[in-house]
Amino acid sequence: MNVINPATGEQLDSYDEQTWSDVDSALERASEAFEEWRKQSIRERERLLETAGRVLRNNKNEYAEIITLEMGKPITQARAEVEKCAWVCDHYAEYGSTYLEDRHHPSPPGTTVKTVHQPLGPVLAVMPWNFPFWQVFRFAAPYLTAGNVGVLKHASNVPGCAIAIEDIFREAGYPEGVFQSLLVSSDLVADIIADDRIRAATLTGSGPAGRAVAAAAGEKIKKTVLELGGSDPFVVLDDADIESAAETGTQARNQNGGQSCIAAKRFVVHTEIYDKFIEALIDSFESLVVGDPTDENTDVGPQARVDLLTELHEQVEASIEAGATLVTGGEPLDREGAFYPPTILTDVPDGCPVDSEETFGPVAAVYEVADEREAITLANNTEFGLGASVWTADRERGEHVAKQIDAGCVYINQLVKSDPRVPFGGVGESGYGRELSEIGIKEFVNRKTVWIE
Ligand code: NDP
Repeated sequence: MNVINPATGEQLDSYDEQTWSDVDSALERASEAFEEWRKQSIRERERLLETAGRVLRNNKNEYAEIITLEMGKPITQARAEVEKCAWVCDHYAEYGSTYLEDRHHPSPPGTTVKTVHQPLGPVLAVMPWNFPFWQVFRFAAPYLTAGNVGVLKHASNVPGCAIAIEDIFREAGYPEGVFQSLLVSSDLVADIIADDRIRAATLTGSGPAGRAVAAAAGEKIKKTVLELGGSDPFVVLDDADIESAAETGTQARNQNGGQSCIAAKRFVVHTEIYDKFIEALIDSFESLVVGDPTDENTDVGPQARVDLLTELHEQVEASIEAGATLVTGGEPLDREGAFYPPTILTDVPDGCPVDSEETFGPVAAVYEVADEREAITLANNTEFGLGASVWTADRERGEHVAKQIDAGCVYINQLVKSDPRVPFGGVGESGYGRELSEIGIKEFVNRKTVWIE
Protein backbone atom coordinates (compact mmCIF):
# COMPACT_ATOMS: atom_id res chain seq x y z
CA MET A 1 0.00 0.00 0.00
CA ASN A 2 1.69 3.18 -1.18
CA VAL A 3 0.60 6.32 0.63
CA ILE A 4 0.69 9.43 -1.55
CA ASN A 5 0.46 12.93 -0.07
CA PRO A 6 -2.35 14.43 -2.20
CA ALA A 7 -1.03 17.98 -1.64
CA THR A 8 2.35 17.22 -3.22
CA GLY A 9 2.06 13.93 -5.10
CA GLU A 10 4.99 12.58 -3.07
CA GLN A 11 5.04 9.06 -1.71
CA LEU A 12 4.94 9.26 2.09
CA ASP A 13 5.20 5.63 3.01
CA SER A 14 4.66 2.08 1.87
CA TYR A 15 3.03 -0.79 3.81
CA ASP A 16 2.94 -4.50 3.08
CA GLU A 17 -0.58 -5.71 2.48
CA GLN A 18 -1.59 -8.46 4.87
CA THR A 19 -2.33 -11.96 3.61
CA TRP A 20 -5.15 -14.34 4.53
CA SER A 21 -2.90 -15.99 7.09
CA ASP A 22 -2.55 -12.61 8.91
CA VAL A 23 -6.32 -12.15 8.69
CA ASP A 24 -6.91 -15.63 10.07
CA SER A 25 -4.71 -14.89 13.11
CA ALA A 26 -6.47 -11.56 13.66
CA LEU A 27 -9.91 -13.19 13.54
CA GLU A 28 -8.76 -15.84 16.00
CA ARG A 29 -7.53 -13.10 18.36
CA ALA A 30 -10.83 -11.25 17.93
CA SER A 31 -12.83 -14.34 18.69
CA GLU A 32 -10.83 -15.15 21.82
CA ALA A 33 -10.86 -11.55 22.99
CA PHE A 34 -14.65 -11.44 22.65
CA GLU A 35 -15.15 -14.30 25.10
CA GLU A 36 -13.42 -12.27 27.82
CA TRP A 37 -14.56 -8.80 26.75
CA ARG A 38 -18.25 -9.72 26.86
CA LYS A 39 -17.82 -10.67 30.52
CA GLN A 40 -16.38 -7.27 31.49
CA SER A 41 -18.83 -5.00 33.26
CA ILE A 42 -20.15 -2.19 31.12
CA ARG A 43 -18.75 0.25 33.70
CA GLU A 44 -15.27 -1.09 32.99
CA ARG A 45 -15.80 -0.75 29.25
CA GLU A 46 -17.01 2.83 29.77
CA ARG A 47 -13.92 3.59 31.86
CA LEU A 48 -11.61 2.37 29.08
CA LEU A 49 -13.50 4.43 26.52
CA GLU A 50 -13.05 7.53 28.64
CA THR A 51 -9.31 6.80 28.66
CA ALA A 52 -9.34 6.44 24.85
CA GLY A 53 -10.87 9.93 24.70
CA ARG A 54 -8.03 11.24 26.85
CA VAL A 55 -5.40 9.59 24.63
CA LEU A 56 -7.00 11.29 21.63
CA ARG A 57 -6.94 14.72 23.27
CA ASN A 58 -3.40 14.32 24.60
CA ASN A 59 -2.03 13.51 21.13
CA LYS A 60 -4.40 15.61 19.06
CA ASN A 61 -1.73 17.36 17.00
CA GLU A 62 0.11 14.17 16.16
CA TYR A 63 -3.06 12.43 14.90
CA ALA A 64 -4.18 15.53 13.01
CA GLU A 65 -0.86 15.58 11.15
CA ILE A 66 -1.27 11.96 10.04
CA ILE A 67 -4.78 12.74 8.75
CA THR A 68 -3.62 15.85 6.88
CA LEU A 69 -0.61 14.15 5.30
CA GLU A 70 -2.50 11.05 4.19
CA MET A 71 -5.73 12.53 2.85
CA GLY A 72 -5.17 16.28 2.61
CA LYS A 73 -7.68 17.65 5.12
CA PRO A 74 -6.78 21.19 6.29
CA ILE A 75 -4.95 20.87 9.59
CA THR A 76 -7.47 22.93 11.59
CA GLN A 77 -10.27 20.60 10.41
CA ALA A 78 -8.13 17.54 11.19
CA ARG A 79 -7.69 18.74 14.79
CA ALA A 80 -11.44 19.31 15.04
CA GLU A 81 -12.00 15.75 13.79
CA VAL A 82 -9.79 14.32 16.55
CA GLU A 83 -11.65 16.43 19.14
CA LYS A 84 -14.94 15.07 17.84
CA CYS A 85 -13.65 11.52 18.25
CA ALA A 86 -12.84 12.31 21.88
CA TRP A 87 -16.38 13.68 22.24
CA VAL A 88 -18.01 10.45 20.99
CA CYS A 89 -15.82 8.54 23.47
CA ASP A 90 -16.97 10.83 26.30
CA HIS A 91 -20.57 10.44 25.18
CA TYR A 92 -20.71 6.65 25.27
CA ALA A 93 -18.54 6.57 28.39
CA GLU A 94 -21.28 8.61 30.07
CA TYR A 95 -24.44 7.15 28.50
CA GLY A 96 -23.51 3.62 27.33
CA SER A 97 -24.91 1.82 30.35
CA THR A 98 -28.08 3.93 30.38
CA TYR A 99 -28.71 3.22 26.69
CA LEU A 100 -28.26 -0.51 27.26
CA GLU A 101 -30.33 -0.84 30.43
CA ASP A 102 -32.85 -3.68 30.49
CA ARG A 103 -36.28 -2.63 29.15
CA HIS A 104 -39.30 -3.95 31.02
CA HIS A 105 -42.51 -4.74 29.14
CA PRO A 106 -46.16 -4.92 30.20
CA SER A 107 -46.67 -8.49 31.37
CA PRO A 108 -49.18 -10.75 33.18
CA PRO A 109 -49.31 -10.39 37.00
CA GLY A 110 -46.47 -12.23 38.72
CA THR A 111 -44.43 -12.36 35.54
CA THR A 112 -41.41 -10.28 34.54
CA VAL A 113 -40.74 -9.70 30.84
CA LYS A 114 -37.80 -7.66 29.68
CA THR A 115 -35.39 -7.06 26.83
CA VAL A 116 -31.69 -7.32 27.63
CA HIS A 117 -28.99 -6.09 25.26
CA GLN A 118 -26.10 -8.43 24.64
CA PRO A 119 -23.15 -8.14 22.25
CA LEU A 120 -23.00 -10.05 18.97
CA GLY A 121 -19.26 -10.72 18.70
CA PRO A 122 -16.54 -9.53 16.31
CA VAL A 123 -17.91 -6.85 13.95
CA LEU A 124 -16.15 -5.92 10.71
CA ALA A 125 -16.01 -2.21 9.91
CA VAL A 126 -15.12 -1.21 6.34
CA MET A 127 -14.35 2.48 6.53
CA PRO A 128 -13.50 5.34 4.15
CA TRP A 129 -10.72 7.91 4.03
CA ASN A 130 -12.77 11.12 4.16
CA PHE A 131 -13.02 11.33 7.97
CA PRO A 132 -10.43 8.65 8.66
CA PHE A 133 -10.62 8.96 12.46
CA TRP A 134 -14.23 10.01 12.98
CA GLN A 135 -15.83 7.29 10.86
CA VAL A 136 -13.93 4.68 12.88
CA PHE A 137 -14.67 6.14 16.31
CA ARG A 138 -18.32 6.58 15.40
CA PHE A 139 -18.31 2.81 14.95
CA ALA A 140 -15.95 1.77 17.74
CA ALA A 141 -17.13 3.94 20.65
CA PRO A 142 -20.65 2.51 20.87
CA TYR A 143 -20.04 -1.01 19.64
CA LEU A 144 -17.01 -1.80 21.80
CA THR A 145 -18.86 -0.38 24.79
CA ALA A 146 -21.76 -2.71 24.02
CA GLY A 147 -19.30 -5.60 24.38
CA ASN A 148 -18.54 -6.36 20.74
CA VAL A 149 -14.99 -6.44 19.42
CA GLY A 150 -13.93 -4.46 16.33
CA VAL A 151 -12.05 -5.49 13.21
CA LEU A 152 -11.27 -2.54 10.96
CA LYS A 153 -10.60 -2.67 7.23
CA HIS A 154 -9.72 0.93 6.54
CA ALA A 155 -9.43 2.58 3.11
CA SER A 156 -6.16 1.74 1.34
CA ASN A 157 -4.96 5.36 1.22
CA VAL A 158 -5.00 5.88 5.03
CA PRO A 159 -3.06 2.96 6.58
CA GLY A 160 -1.20 5.32 8.94
CA CYS A 161 -4.54 6.37 10.43
CA ALA A 162 -5.60 2.72 10.77
CA ILE A 163 -2.43 1.86 12.69
CA ALA A 164 -2.65 4.98 14.88
CA ILE A 165 -6.25 4.12 15.86
CA GLU A 166 -5.31 0.57 16.85
CA ASP A 167 -2.50 2.08 18.98
CA ILE A 168 -4.96 4.45 20.69
CA PHE A 169 -7.05 1.55 21.98
CA ARG A 170 -3.90 -0.31 23.08
CA GLU A 171 -2.60 2.76 24.91
CA ALA A 172 -5.98 3.26 26.58
CA GLY A 173 -5.66 -0.23 28.08
CA TYR A 174 -8.07 -2.26 25.91
CA PRO A 175 -7.22 -5.98 26.01
CA GLU A 176 -5.35 -7.41 23.01
CA GLY A 177 -7.73 -8.28 20.15
CA VAL A 178 -10.63 -6.04 21.17
CA PHE A 179 -9.83 -3.60 18.38
CA GLN A 180 -7.63 -4.55 15.43
CA SER A 181 -6.79 -2.91 12.11
CA LEU A 182 -6.25 -5.12 9.08
CA LEU A 183 -4.15 -3.73 6.23
CA VAL A 184 -5.90 -5.59 3.43
CA SER A 185 -7.33 -4.77 0.03
CA SER A 186 -11.06 -4.79 -0.52
CA ASP A 187 -10.67 -8.10 -2.42
CA LEU A 188 -10.56 -9.92 0.92
CA VAL A 189 -13.64 -8.28 2.44
CA ALA A 190 -16.20 -10.84 1.19
CA ASP A 191 -14.13 -13.72 2.59
CA ILE A 192 -13.76 -11.96 5.93
CA ILE A 193 -17.52 -11.43 6.14
CA ALA A 194 -18.11 -15.08 5.21
CA ASP A 195 -15.86 -16.24 8.06
CA ASP A 196 -17.88 -17.63 10.97
CA ARG A 197 -15.88 -15.61 13.48
CA ILE A 198 -17.29 -12.34 12.07
CA ARG A 199 -20.87 -11.81 13.29
CA ALA A 200 -21.87 -8.54 11.61
CA ALA A 201 -20.52 -5.84 9.31
CA THR A 202 -20.82 -2.14 8.71
CA LEU A 203 -19.60 -0.02 5.83
CA THR A 204 -19.35 3.67 5.19
CA GLY A 205 -18.51 4.46 1.58
CA SER A 206 -19.82 4.30 -1.97
CA GLY A 207 -22.88 2.45 -3.28
CA PRO A 208 -20.90 -0.26 -5.11
CA ALA A 209 -18.84 -1.02 -1.98
CA GLY A 210 -22.05 -1.08 0.12
CA ARG A 211 -23.72 -3.49 -2.28
CA ALA A 212 -20.70 -5.83 -2.15
CA VAL A 213 -20.70 -5.88 1.66
CA ALA A 214 -24.48 -6.33 1.90
CA ALA A 215 -24.41 -9.18 -0.65
CA ALA A 216 -21.63 -11.02 1.19
CA ALA A 217 -23.38 -10.54 4.53
CA GLY A 218 -26.75 -11.54 3.05
CA GLU A 219 -25.26 -14.81 1.85
CA LYS A 220 -24.51 -15.65 5.52
CA ILE A 221 -27.51 -13.91 7.12
CA LYS A 222 -25.36 -11.40 8.99
CA LYS A 223 -26.62 -8.04 10.14
CA THR A 224 -25.28 -4.95 8.33
CA VAL A 225 -25.46 -1.20 8.71
CA LEU A 226 -24.64 0.81 5.57
CA GLU A 227 -23.86 4.49 5.50
CA LEU A 228 -23.49 5.33 1.81
CA GLY A 229 -23.41 8.46 -0.27
CA GLY A 230 -25.73 11.42 -0.45
CA SER A 231 -26.80 14.27 -2.68
CA ASP A 232 -28.20 16.45 0.06
CA PRO A 233 -30.46 19.36 -0.89
CA PHE A 234 -29.92 22.75 0.74
CA VAL A 235 -33.29 24.47 0.39
CA VAL A 236 -33.41 28.26 0.71
CA LEU A 237 -36.98 29.58 0.98
CA ASP A 238 -38.12 33.14 0.24
CA ASP A 239 -38.13 34.21 3.92
CA ALA A 240 -34.63 32.88 4.71
CA ASP A 241 -31.78 34.90 6.18
CA ILE A 242 -29.80 35.09 2.93
CA GLU A 243 -26.39 36.01 4.34
CA SER A 244 -26.49 33.32 6.94
CA ALA A 245 -27.74 30.70 4.45
CA ALA A 246 -25.00 31.58 1.95
CA GLU A 247 -22.30 31.53 4.60
CA THR A 248 -23.41 28.20 6.11
CA GLY A 249 -24.06 26.77 2.63
CA THR A 250 -20.48 27.57 1.67
CA GLN A 251 -19.20 25.73 4.71
CA ALA A 252 -21.64 22.85 4.16
CA ARG A 253 -20.39 22.35 0.60
CA ASN A 254 -16.66 23.01 1.01
CA GLN A 255 -15.61 21.67 4.38
CA ASN A 256 -13.29 18.70 4.08
CA GLY A 257 -12.72 19.72 0.45
CA GLY A 258 -16.36 18.88 -0.22
CA GLN A 259 -15.66 15.20 0.47
CA SER A 260 -18.47 14.46 2.86
CA CYS A 261 -21.54 12.28 2.45
CA ILE A 262 -23.65 14.95 4.20
CA ALA A 263 -22.23 17.95 2.33
CA ALA A 264 -24.83 20.26 0.77
CA LYS A 265 -24.68 19.27 -2.89
CA ARG A 266 -27.81 20.65 -4.52
CA PHE A 267 -28.85 24.21 -3.62
CA VAL A 268 -32.57 24.68 -4.21
CA VAL A 269 -33.36 28.39 -4.10
CA HIS A 270 -36.69 30.24 -4.16
CA THR A 271 -36.96 32.60 -7.13
CA GLU A 272 -37.84 35.61 -4.89
CA ILE A 273 -34.38 35.64 -3.34
CA TYR A 274 -32.43 33.76 -6.01
CA ASP A 275 -30.36 36.70 -7.33
CA LYS A 276 -29.35 37.91 -3.89
CA PHE A 277 -28.54 34.42 -2.67
CA ILE A 278 -26.42 33.43 -5.66
CA GLU A 279 -24.46 36.68 -5.42
CA ALA A 280 -23.75 36.04 -1.73
CA LEU A 281 -22.86 32.40 -2.44
CA ILE A 282 -20.39 33.32 -5.20
CA ASP A 283 -18.71 35.91 -2.93
CA SER A 284 -18.47 33.38 -0.17
CA PHE A 285 -17.10 30.57 -2.39
CA GLU A 286 -14.52 32.91 -3.91
CA SER A 287 -13.33 34.08 -0.50
CA LEU A 288 -12.18 30.58 0.49
CA VAL A 289 -8.44 29.97 0.71
CA VAL A 290 -7.47 26.91 -1.33
CA GLY A 291 -4.01 25.49 -0.78
CA ASP A 292 -1.49 23.82 1.48
CA PRO A 293 -3.49 21.81 4.04
CA THR A 294 -0.75 22.16 6.66
CA ASP A 295 -1.25 25.96 6.60
CA GLU A 296 -3.48 27.17 9.47
CA ASN A 297 -5.29 29.58 7.13
CA THR A 298 -6.31 27.07 4.49
CA ASP A 299 -10.03 26.45 4.04
CA VAL A 300 -9.93 23.91 1.21
CA GLY A 301 -7.08 21.43 0.79
CA PRO A 302 -6.48 18.98 -2.07
CA GLN A 303 -8.86 16.21 -3.03
CA ALA A 304 -7.75 13.01 -1.30
CA ARG A 305 -6.58 11.21 -4.48
CA VAL A 306 -5.84 12.21 -8.06
CA ASP A 307 -8.36 9.69 -9.45
CA LEU A 308 -11.10 11.27 -7.32
CA LEU A 309 -10.22 14.73 -8.66
CA THR A 310 -10.32 13.41 -12.24
CA GLU A 311 -13.74 11.85 -11.63
CA LEU A 312 -15.08 15.06 -10.11
CA HIS A 313 -13.82 17.17 -13.01
CA GLU A 314 -15.41 14.78 -15.49
CA GLN A 315 -18.75 15.23 -13.71
CA VAL A 316 -18.41 19.01 -13.99
CA GLU A 317 -17.40 18.93 -17.66
CA ALA A 318 -20.19 16.53 -18.61
CA SER A 319 -22.73 18.71 -16.78
CA ILE A 320 -21.55 21.84 -18.62
CA GLU A 321 -21.74 19.87 -21.86
CA ALA A 322 -25.34 18.98 -20.95
CA GLY A 323 -26.24 22.66 -20.52
CA ALA A 324 -25.20 23.77 -16.99
CA THR A 325 -23.63 27.22 -16.61
CA LEU A 326 -20.25 27.50 -14.91
CA VAL A 327 -20.28 30.50 -12.58
CA THR A 328 -17.01 30.12 -10.70
CA GLY A 329 -14.18 27.55 -10.46
CA GLY A 330 -14.44 24.55 -12.74
CA GLU A 331 -10.78 23.79 -13.58
CA PRO A 332 -8.20 21.84 -11.53
CA LEU A 333 -5.55 24.24 -10.18
CA ASP A 334 -2.40 24.46 -12.25
CA ARG A 335 -0.02 23.32 -9.51
CA GLU A 336 1.38 20.18 -7.87
CA GLY A 337 -1.22 18.12 -5.98
CA ALA A 338 -4.90 17.27 -6.45
CA PHE A 339 -6.42 20.75 -6.00
CA TYR A 340 -9.91 21.63 -7.22
CA PRO A 341 -11.42 25.08 -6.62
CA PRO A 342 -14.81 25.82 -5.06
CA THR A 343 -17.11 25.60 -8.07
CA ILE A 344 -20.70 26.72 -8.73
CA LEU A 345 -22.92 25.53 -11.57
CA THR A 346 -26.34 27.02 -12.30
CA ASP A 347 -29.07 26.17 -14.88
CA VAL A 348 -28.42 22.54 -13.99
CA PRO A 349 -30.31 20.19 -16.34
CA ASP A 350 -32.24 17.27 -14.92
CA GLY A 351 -30.21 14.06 -15.06
CA CYS A 352 -26.74 15.55 -15.72
CA PRO A 353 -23.94 14.18 -13.46
CA VAL A 354 -23.95 16.96 -10.84
CA ASP A 355 -27.72 16.59 -10.61
CA SER A 356 -28.11 12.82 -10.45
CA GLU A 357 -24.78 11.57 -9.04
CA GLU A 358 -22.97 12.27 -5.80
CA THR A 359 -20.30 14.96 -6.28
CA PHE A 360 -17.54 14.28 -3.76
CA GLY A 361 -15.71 17.61 -3.98
CA PRO A 362 -16.32 21.38 -3.72
CA VAL A 363 -18.93 21.61 -6.49
CA ALA A 364 -22.35 23.18 -5.90
CA ALA A 365 -25.30 22.63 -8.25
CA VAL A 366 -27.74 25.55 -7.87
CA TYR A 367 -31.41 25.47 -8.93
CA GLU A 368 -34.04 28.23 -9.04
CA VAL A 369 -37.57 27.19 -8.06
CA ALA A 370 -40.91 29.02 -8.28
CA ASP A 371 -42.33 28.02 -4.87
CA GLU A 372 -42.16 25.76 -1.84
CA ARG A 373 -43.88 22.87 -3.59
CA GLU A 374 -41.36 22.87 -6.41
CA ALA A 375 -38.55 23.11 -3.87
CA ILE A 376 -39.76 19.95 -2.13
CA THR A 377 -40.19 18.09 -5.43
CA LEU A 378 -36.67 18.99 -6.50
CA ALA A 379 -35.20 18.18 -3.10
CA ASN A 380 -36.71 14.70 -3.43
CA ASN A 381 -35.56 14.26 -7.04
CA THR A 382 -32.70 11.93 -6.09
CA GLU A 383 -32.12 8.27 -5.37
CA PHE A 384 -30.21 9.27 -2.25
CA GLY A 385 -31.78 10.20 1.07
CA LEU A 386 -29.14 11.03 3.64
CA GLY A 387 -29.67 14.59 4.90
CA ALA A 388 -31.25 17.91 3.95
CA SER A 389 -31.06 21.48 5.14
CA VAL A 390 -33.97 23.94 4.97
CA TRP A 391 -33.68 27.71 5.46
CA THR A 392 -36.66 29.80 6.52
CA ALA A 393 -37.48 32.44 9.14
CA ASP A 394 -40.60 30.46 10.04
CA ARG A 395 -39.74 27.43 12.17
CA GLU A 396 -43.19 25.84 11.71
CA ARG A 397 -42.91 26.18 7.96
CA GLY A 398 -39.45 24.60 8.18
CA GLU A 399 -40.82 21.65 10.09
CA HIS A 400 -43.70 21.26 7.64
CA VAL A 401 -41.22 21.15 4.73
CA ALA A 402 -38.90 18.81 6.65
CA LYS A 403 -41.68 16.23 6.99
CA GLN A 404 -42.05 16.10 3.21
CA ILE A 405 -38.38 15.50 2.44
CA ASP A 406 -37.27 11.88 2.00
CA ALA A 407 -34.08 11.79 4.04
CA GLY A 408 -32.62 10.33 7.21
CA CYS A 409 -32.40 13.78 8.76
CA VAL A 410 -33.44 17.37 8.05
CA TYR A 411 -31.78 20.35 9.71
CA ILE A 412 -33.63 23.66 9.73
CA ASN A 413 -31.46 26.80 9.62
CA GLN A 414 -28.43 24.63 10.27
CA LEU A 415 -26.08 22.50 8.22
CA VAL A 416 -26.40 18.73 8.36
CA LYS A 417 -23.94 17.26 10.82
CA SER A 418 -23.39 14.10 12.78
CA ASP A 419 -23.57 14.43 16.55
CA PRO A 420 -23.04 11.60 19.09
CA ARG A 421 -26.40 12.42 20.74
CA VAL A 422 -28.45 12.15 17.55
CA PRO A 423 -29.22 9.16 15.26
CA PHE A 424 -27.45 9.33 11.92
CA GLY A 425 -28.11 7.43 8.69
CA GLY A 426 -30.06 7.44 5.46
CA VAL A 427 -32.84 5.99 3.36
CA GLY A 428 -32.86 4.81 -0.26
CA GLU A 429 -29.44 4.63 -1.93
CA SER A 430 -27.92 6.31 1.13
CA GLY A 431 -28.12 3.04 3.02
CA TYR A 432 -29.90 1.75 6.09
CA GLY A 433 -29.51 1.46 9.81
CA ARG A 434 -28.54 4.23 12.18
CA GLU A 435 -25.33 5.14 13.93
CA LEU A 436 -24.81 7.17 17.10
CA SER A 437 -27.20 7.90 20.01
CA GLU A 438 -29.20 5.19 21.77
CA ILE A 439 -30.58 3.92 18.46
CA GLY A 440 -27.08 3.48 17.02
CA ILE A 441 -25.61 1.48 19.89
CA LYS A 442 -28.52 -0.98 19.61
CA GLU A 443 -27.81 -1.86 15.95
CA PHE A 444 -25.20 -4.44 16.90
CA VAL A 445 -26.67 -6.09 19.98
CA ASN A 446 -28.91 -9.08 20.51
CA ARG A 447 -32.10 -7.59 21.95
CA LYS A 448 -32.93 -10.68 23.89
CA THR A 449 -36.38 -11.13 25.39
CA VAL A 450 -36.35 -12.77 28.81
CA TRP A 451 -39.70 -13.99 30.22
CA ILE A 452 -39.65 -14.93 33.90
CA GLU A 453 -42.75 -16.77 35.17
P1 NDP B 1 -15.15 3.23 -1.66
O1 NDP B 1 -16.56 3.09 -1.30
O2 NDP B 1 -14.61 2.40 -2.78
O3 NDP B 1 -14.24 2.95 -0.34
C1 NDP B 1 -14.74 2.93 0.97
C2 NDP B 1 -14.26 1.68 1.68
O4 NDP B 1 -14.82 0.53 1.06
C3 NDP B 1 -12.74 1.48 1.61
O5 NDP B 1 -12.28 0.88 2.77
C4 NDP B 1 -12.59 0.53 0.43
O6 NDP B 1 -11.38 -0.18 0.44
C5 NDP B 1 -13.80 -0.37 0.63
N1 NDP B 1 -14.27 -1.04 -0.57
C6 NDP B 1 -14.25 -0.59 -1.85
N2 NDP B 1 -14.81 -1.50 -2.67
C7 NDP B 1 -15.18 -2.56 -1.91
C8 NDP B 1 -15.80 -3.81 -2.19
N3 NDP B 1 -16.15 -4.16 -3.43
N4 NDP B 1 -16.03 -4.65 -1.17
C9 NDP B 1 -15.70 -4.31 0.08
N5 NDP B 1 -15.10 -3.14 0.41
C10 NDP B 1 -14.86 -2.26 -0.57
O7 NDP B 1 -14.87 4.74 -1.97
P2 NDP B 1 -13.74 5.45 -2.87
O8 NDP B 1 -12.60 5.76 -2.00
O9 NDP B 1 -13.38 4.69 -4.10
O10 NDP B 1 -14.52 6.76 -3.29
C11 NDP B 1 -15.43 6.69 -4.41
C12 NDP B 1 -16.69 7.46 -4.14
O11 NDP B 1 -17.38 6.86 -3.05
C13 NDP B 1 -16.49 8.90 -3.69
O12 NDP B 1 -16.27 9.75 -4.76
C14 NDP B 1 -17.81 9.16 -2.98
O13 NDP B 1 -18.79 9.47 -3.92
C15 NDP B 1 -18.11 7.83 -2.31
N6 NDP B 1 -17.67 7.82 -0.90
C16 NDP B 1 -18.61 8.08 0.06
C17 NDP B 1 -18.22 8.15 1.39
C18 NDP B 1 -19.21 8.44 2.45
O14 NDP B 1 -18.85 9.01 3.48
N7 NDP B 1 -20.46 8.04 2.30
C19 NDP B 1 -16.85 7.98 1.81
C20 NDP B 1 -15.93 7.68 0.72
C21 NDP B 1 -16.36 7.61 -0.57
P3 NDP B 1 -10.17 0.29 -0.52
O15 NDP B 1 -9.78 1.66 -0.14
O16 NDP B 1 -9.10 -0.72 -0.22
O17 NDP B 1 -10.69 0.18 -1.93
